[in-house]
Amino acid sequence: MKRKALSFFILLLVLFVLFPSRGFALTGIINIRHWTAPDNSRIVIDTTSEASYAILKDGEKLIVDIFQSELLPDVSSEYLIGMPAVSKITVKEVDKNTTRLEIDLAKNVSTSVFNLGEILDKPHRIVIDLSMPEIERQETDERIRIGVEGKKRIIVLDPGHGGEDPGAIGLLGTQEKDIVLQIARELRELLVERGYKIFMTRDGDYFVSLEQRGRIARQYNADLFISIHADAATTRQARGSSVYSLSTIAASDEASRLLAASQNLSDIIGGDPDSNNNFEVDPILLNMLQTEALNKARSFGSTSLEMLKRVNDLKFNTVQGAPFRVLRLPDIPAILVETAYLSNPQEELLLRSKAFRRDIAWAVAAAVTQYMPIPSSLAFLEKDAQYRPQSHAVALGKKDIIYKVKRGDNLETIAADHGTTVRTLMEANKIKSKNRIYAGQSLKIPGGYIVDETDTTPAVYTVASGDTLERVARRYGVSMADLMRINNIQSKDRIYIGQRLALAPPSSAPSRPAAHVIARGETLGEIALQYGITTAQLMRMNNIKAPDRIFAGQKLSLSESPSSPRAETHVVTRGDTLERIARRYDMTVEELMRLNNIQSQNRIYIDQKIALSAPPSASPFPARSATTYVVLPGDTLGGIAQKNDLTVAELMRLNNIKSQDRIYAGQRLVLADTSAESPARPEKHVVTSGEALEQIARRYDVTVADLMEANNLQSRDRIYVGQKISIPENLGAGAGNAKATEQIYTVGRGDTLEGIAKRFNTTIESLMAANNLESSNLIFAGQKIIISQ
Ligand SMILES: [Zn+2]
Repeated sequence: MKRKALSFFILLLVLFVLFPSRGFALTGIINIRHWTAPDNSRIVIDTTSEASYAILKDGEKLIVDIFQSELLPDVSSEYLIGMPAVSKITVKEVDKNTTRLEIDLAKNVSTSVFNLGEILDKPHRIVIDLSMPEIERQETDERIRIGVEGKKRIIVLDPGHGGEDPGAIGLLGTQEKDIVLQIARELRELLVERGYKIFMTRDGDYFVSLEQRGRIARQYNADLFISIHADAATTRQARGSSVYSLSTIAASDEASRLLAASQNLSDIIGGDPDSNNNFEVDPILLNMLQTEALNKARSFGSTSLEMLKRVNDLKFNTVQGAPFRVLRLPDIPAILVETAYLSNPQEELLLRSKAFRRDIAWAVAAAVTQYMPIPSSLAFLEKDAQYRPQSHAVALGKKDIIYKVKRGDNLETIAADHGTTVRTLMEANKIKSKNRIYAGQSLKIPGGYIVDETDTTPAVYTVASGDTLERVARRYGVSMADLMRINNIQSKDRIYIGQRLALAPPSSAPSRPAAHVIARGETLGEIALQYGITTAQLMRMNNIKAPDRIFAGQKLSLSESPSSPRAETHVVTRGDTLERIARRYDMTVEELMRLNNIQSQNRIYIDQKIALSAPPSASPFPARSATTYVVLPGDTLGGIAQKNDLTVAELMRLNNIKSQDRIYAGQRLVLADTSAESPARPEKHVVTSGEALEQIARRYDVTVADLMEANNLQSRDRIYVGQKISIPENLGAGAGNAKATEQIYTVGRGDTLEGIAKRFNTTIESLMAANNLESSNLIFAGQKIIISQ
C-alpha cells in the first residue's frame, strides 16, 4: 500500500543530458557555490568539463546525479545553507564515478537545471535555479500596485552585475558588483531622505538578468532608471566618470560601443538561461517609442555630469550614446553611470574609500533633485549648492569638516572613513577617552592634518597651491619615482592644483576590530572593503577556499595569523596561471615552479595538483621569515623600504633589482644582508626620500646625537633628500657577528648551489646535506642556506 501511494505521489522527473563519452576522463567537481535573492536561489556546480547529469525531483528533495565525475579536494560533503528556497545540500559519491547532490527544498519551489559553457575565466557549470513563484507573483503585484498608485516620484536604482558576474575587477581585487551595490545603497538613503520612492533591481549579491532589471523598472512604472557601474579599460591610464544613454545608431565612439558590448555580456557571464544574445534594436520602432524618454535621459544625464564634475574628473563632458541592453526601456528615461575606473589604480583606491562612494552618491542624488524636484526635495537644492565633497576636503588639507556621530560609530571607523587618525580626532575635539563619543555629537575633522604620520597615510592627496611633487613625496614618505609611476605623471612639473594623487596604499591598514561577524547577505568583498583589506587577504586570514564559502553568523578574523594553516595542494582550474596561484597562496612563481619541478611558467594544465609546500624535512627554514617580504599588489619599493627601515637603494642592492618599478606582486624580497661580507661603511651617507635621521643612525650603529654633532645639524628634522651626511666613527662597535664554523647565506637571484659552494670554498654535497636539499636545483632567491665548511 505504502509503496503504491508513494509511487503515485512522487513527481518523477528524469532528465538525461548525455554527451559522447570522452575516453575515461572524469569530470572534476571543482566547487559548489550558491547565492540567494528575495524570490529565488541559485546553486552553481563548477566542473572541469561539460558534465552529464540526471535530475530527480521527489517532493521537497531534488537529486542531481553527475555521471563520470569525481569530487576535487575543495568540495565539502555538506552545505548548510538556510536560504528561503533551500536548507541543505548533501554531496556523496553513490557508485563508481557518480556524484550525487541531495538538495533539501522548501515547499512550492520550482526548479530549473541547465549547463553553462565556459566563458572568460568561468569554468563549465551546472546551474540549479530554484524559484519561488508565489513570492515572485507577490512581488510583481506589489510593484504594479505601487506603480499605479505612485503619487511620489519613483526611481529604480540598478547596481550592475552580482552573483556569478563580478563585473570589473581592480588590481587590488576590488569587484565592481560590491562597489556599485554600496554606492546604490548610499544613493537610496540620500534619495529617500529627499522624499523619493526608491527601489533597487538587486539588494544583495545575486544575479539578475538584464531583462529582469528592465522588467522591474516597468512594473514600478518608474520615472527614472539609473544603472550604476564602475568602468574597466585595457589601459590603466583611463579614468574619470561618464554617463551613458541608449543609442541605436552608432555609439559615440568605438570605446563606448565596446563598453556596451562587454556589459551586454552580463547575462552570458552570469548565466541567464533565456538570454538572447543578439541584441538588435529596430531603430525605427525604438525611435517612435523612445524619442521623449531619450531626450529626458540625455537631459538628466547632463545634469548628472554637472554634479559628478564636482566630485571626480569626467571622462567625457557630454552624455555618451551606446547600445546598453539594460537601458532598453521604451518609455522610462534611463541612464547608466560609470562612476570611475576600477582598472585605474588611483580610482580603485578612490572607489574603495567610503567618502568617495558617498560623494558619487551625492552627485547623483543632487542631479535627481535638480532634474525632478518634488516639494520634499526643494530644501536640498541650496544644500547641494554648498556641498563640499568629502574625499576632496580631507585631502585638500584646508577646510575642516563637521561630522555628526551616528549610532554604532566609533572613532576608529570615523577616522578610517575620513582618511585621518584617531589621535587627530581626539586632539581636534579635545576628547579624553576614545569611548567618550555619542550619537548626535558634532566632531570636527581637520582636513588632511595628521598628527602621527606613521599611523596612517590617506589613499589620495589633492594638490594644493604651492605644492610640488617633491613636497608631497617627502610628506608621505613616497619616492618621487613611485608617485610619478602610480599617477602616470610624465614630468615632475606637470601637476596642477586640485589634481588628486594616489599615494602608495597605506603600509598598515587603519586599526580595525579583531573579528567581524557576517551578517545575512554580506559578501566577502564587501567585508574586505569595509576594513580596507583585499578579499584575498581576508580569505587567507580565515583559510577560506572560495569567496562564497561563508555563512551568516560566521566569525571572521581580521588579522593575519602567522600560523594560519593552508591547503597543501592546489588543483589547477580553468583560467589559473602560476602567477594567480602564487598570489592566492602568498608565494612566488619561482617557489611554485621549484616545489613542483615545473620548467616553464606556461606548463600547467587543468586538474594538475600543485604542491604548495615542501615536505617538512626539505625546508629547514620557515618560508615566511622576518627577513623576507612578499610584495603585495600596490606595494612600491619606497613603501616596503620604509616599512622595514631600509632605503630603496639598499632594497634594490639586496635583491639585485635594477629599476625601481621592477617589482611585482608575489615577489619575495630579501630584507637583510646575511652574507658573509657586511657593507662597507661609507664616509658619507646620501639621504634618500623618506629617510629620517634615526634610520641613518641605526643603520650605521651610531646615535642621532653623534650624527647631529658630526654634521652640525640644529634639528633632527632638518635633513633633505640628497644631503650628504658624515658618518662618525662608532667607538663602541666591534662585536663579531659571523661564527667561524657555520654561517647563513641568503640566496640571491641567479645564484646556483655550485656558485655558492665555490664562493664559500665548500662542496655542493655538503651544502645539500647541511640544508636537507634533495636536489641541487632546489634553491630559490631569498632562501636561507647554512654554509658549513
Ligand atoms: Zn559594469
